[in-house]
Amino acid sequence: MKKNKILLSSPHMSDEGYEQEFIKEAFDTNWIAPLGANVDGFEKELAEHVEIGNAAALVSGTSAIHLALKAVGVGVGDKVICQSLTFAASVNPIIYEGAVPIFVDSDLESWNMDPKLLEAALTKHPDVKAVIAVHLYGLSAELDEIKAICDRFNVPLIEDAAESLGTLYKGKQTGTIGKVGVFSFNGNKIITTSGGGMLISDDAELVSKVRFWSTQSREKERHYEHKEIGYNYRMSNIVAGIGRGQLKVLDERVAQKRAIYAYYKKMLADLPGIHFMPENTWNEPNCWLSVVYFDGIDPTILMDALANENIESRPVWKPMHLQPVFKKYDVFGGEVSEMLFAKGICLPSDSKMTIEDLERTTSIIKRAVNDEA
Ligand SMILES: *Cc1c(COP(=O)(O)O)cnc(C)c1O
Repeated sequence: MKKNKILLSSPHMSDEGYEQEFIKEAFDTNWIAPLGANVDGFEKELAEHVEIGNAAALVSGTSAIHLALKAVGVGVGDKVICQSLTFAASVNPIIYEGAVPIFVDSDLESWNMDPKLLEAALTKHPDVKAVIAVHLYGLSAELDEIKAICDRFNVPLIEDAAESLGTLYKGKQTGTIGKVGVFSFNGNKIITTSGGGMLISDDAELVSKVRFWSTQSREKERHYEHKEIGYNYRMSNIVAGIGRGQLKVLDERVAQKRAIYAYYKKMLADLPGIHFMPENTWNEPNCWLSVVYFDGIDPTILMDALANENIESRPVWKPMHLQPVFKKYDVFGGEVSEMLFAKGICLPSDSKMTIEDLERTTSIIKRAVNDEA
């Protein structure tokens, strides 16, 4: 008999049905548009949750990064520094703006942007217009150091917190420390709206400009008047309803994901050559995905063993400086992200996993590793 499928990270709606209540309200009031009480409510509730002044609900994390770049003044020919170990969506908006990415490697202490390499990159390119730091897999980057370097070079910091909603850096929510922060509610993220994103900032004027661009840059006239290029990037009121419901279970999801990671840590700690995600005093991660790497074991053997038992796993993100589409751009360092890509494996971290699912997964990993070692 085929065993039940265990997924990496899949949508997990509330048991209470909060999401459907908010959607029903949208239907009942006929606000089936990128406008309405759920959009306003989702922005307000998310901003309160992470303790920031302002939020703009958008169609995706990618669109949020795009408008974040515009909002800090990135345009054609400008240079933007971006973490190399990330998902391509961190970088693509740099290209949309006609700007030029410069990649910076991660360090082993955080798996995120190496502050020393950031400093080297800014020293060589002092005309950089923005820095995009990522909180990979829900691990917080070393924000104080990164921010201090950005401040010294007078460059705005954009936090790509797409994977880290609920992660704390020194007690503060990731996404709230840079000039602009970005969250994603894509289907695989810790909470989801099926697809969506949020841009946050303490700068009210910046966020209201982002809302303006996201609704086609319509001037306040009776007729359609446009002085700037606009985008159709605003979140719909239906989607925002799902978000409001999901926000109510965010803390629960963080607890579930952290428990999954704690289980792996406990059960796999003795395996030869294993390394877990880095732990730091300043980092309280949401553990969106549990990730490990092994010295001396090919991760494809583990991924195959899991796939044979109907369990999903995945390699670590392939660094951007190795991607054919971004190969021509400058990179500072590269060895750490290359190592993590070569050796790393993202373990199933679905918040719906039962203790039996976790037992099944860990026993397969143990068997496969011990057969190889
Ligand atoms: C998911 C993700 C994005 C993009 O978010 P979408 O909502 O899918 O557009 C950006 N950066 C990182 C690191 C992500 O994981």
